Amino acid sequence: MANAQCACGALRLMLSEPPRSTALCHCFACQRRTGAPFSANAFYSVDSVEISGPSTEFVRTAESGRKVRMHFCPACGSTVYWKPDASPSVIGVAVGSLADPDFAPPAMSVFEQSKHKWVRLDGTVERFQRMPSDKRSRST
Ligand SMILES: [Zn+2]
Ligand SMILES: [Zn+2]
Repeated sequence: MANAQCACGALRLMLSEPPRSTALCHCFACQRRTGAPFSANAFYSVDSVEISGPSTEFVRTAESGRKVRMHFCPACGSTVYWKPDASPSVIGVAVGSLADPDFAPPAMSVFEQSKHKWVRLDGTVERFQRMPSDKRSRST
């Protein structure tokens, strides 16, 4: 059992299972959303997530053309989770909101086409210029 929360603690998630997958994303939308050079994301089965507290929804269109519904705390502004229309069985959670240095490392790194040049990842991370679905996009 793990817990995620926004900076002020009003918006909380209880996570009853480990994440299905983990990823870093270097796209500009994540850079602007987080204020950080890349986002760290964990994806959970919707059945394993219990949400409490208020959130405001920010909807953006992903590169796939499908919508992603970001949920942030109306009091402190932290985005804690999001729901991709393309995968209704999954909830994305901002890894930082778990505040756990022992959290599972990222399995992959996506949208490296806009990765900050100083960011270095170890060899265990699977890397992609864009998304894994695009076979031509794999980084070398
Ligand atoms: Zn908050
Ligand atoms: Zn992104």
